[in-house]
Amino acid sequence: MDDKFAFLLPLVMLSFAATFAVAARWNSRPARLWSVGYALAGGAYLVPMVPENVPVVLQALLADIGFLLAFWCFGQALLDYFGRPLRRRLFAFLVAASTAGAAYTIVGMADLRAETLVNDLACSALLLIALGSIGLRAQTAIDRVLVGVSVLVVLDNLTRTVVFNLVLAPETSLDAFAGSPYAFAMQMTGAALGLVGGLVALAAVTLRVVAGYRDAAERDPLTGLLNRRGFERATAGFAADPSRPASLVVCDIDHFKAVNDAFGHAAGDRILEGFAEIVGIVMPPDGVAARFGGEEFILFLPGPPQVAAVIAEVLRIAFAERDWRAEGAGRRLTASFGIAGVEGGESSLFEAMARADAHLYAAKASGRNRVVASLAAQPRPSALAA
Ligand code: GH3
Ligand code: MG
Ligand code: MG
Repeated sequence: MDDKFAFLLPLVMLSFAATFAVAARWNSRPARLWSVGYALAGGAYLVPMVPENVPVVLQALLADIGFLLAFWCFGQALLDYFGRPLRRRLFAFLVAASTAGAAYTIVGMADLRAETLVNDLACSALLLIALGSIGLRAQTAIDRVLVGVSVLVVLDNLTRTVVFNLVLAPETSLDAFAGSPYAFAMQMTGAALGLVGGLVALAAVTLRVVAGYRDAAERDPLTGLLNRRGFERATAGFAADPSRPASLVVCDIDHFKAVNDAFGHAAGDRILEGFAEIVGIVMPPDGVAARFGGEEFILFLPGPPQVAAVIAEVLRIAFAERDWRAEGAGRRLTASFGIAGVEGGESSLFEAMARADAHLYAAKASGRNRVVASLAAQPRPSALAA
């Protein structure tokens, strides 16, 4: 094989190792594992370039261990990325058994062909265990591509094993094989998959980190509910669809300033968390809840305002009945609610929000601890047309 190409491969692998090391600083453990994996693979590809006085036996063993540990890392990175158990013991057992097997085939049997068989099978097994555990859990396009490339790596590995051990004549020596077009083609596919796999894994890690930051930017850290920005993005699709009725509920805790003054800001914070907790319990799965700032919350609920009124009433009662002594507030609390239906033809929630706010104001003005909504059936353009 071309010497320059031989240098290129470890260089590419080590570049990936460095890039993943940078990505790992975004607090991504899979990126750290991919970094170590690519560093080990790059090192293993460098082994044949060591000074010639290093015995071939030692070179082969070193390269084997490098590739094995690299595939350990790749398998672990995949499991970690997909949130699966890391299977460390099984992996350690496979690596130990395969290293012992490779050492025996090299030193004991002086059979480099058997050695590559043991090594390739063990590397494939490490990835296969990870892929088996991941199963069909890949959801996004990039996750599916990542699984697909990993499957190709296993197939590539197994093809090499089959070709070398079963298709080629048994008397073909390792040296003859190394110079053959087969070996060149396989090294090319192996290198291409290493490259593509690295790029795909890097894209997957980066997209996940970006998604994590976006989620953090759209969430209220105290309650874990969406913030205003998150709410607007989450409801953008619903608002534009007049064929599905939807409602808004705006909620505001009553006399919250007095609660803060009496029991302290920390107790106030715990009450806000408690309110969000109750919201989480009463919300239907297709609803969207957000903290709009201070002690104001908003719920987007599919369905007409009559349904939203029932949910708001459950929320109102649950909040009013809750004992807050554990949170540091020795007093019952209440909240007020305003409800408005999103009317057909409205292209944003803006108007509905203003109507719900007006109802909330009415709830406050008429004594608090109540739900106010205008529940008269709203004529919809579609209903009028029918
Ligand atoms: P009303 O019944 O009319 O709604 O009276 P209120 O006291 O609840 O209304 P107001 O809007 O005057 O006061 C809201 C208070 O909410 C003021 C502020 O101290 C408190 N608050 C806003 N954000 C937070 C927060 O993050 N934590 C805590 N503990 N308090 C907050
Ligand atoms: Mg208030
Ligand atoms: Mg308020």
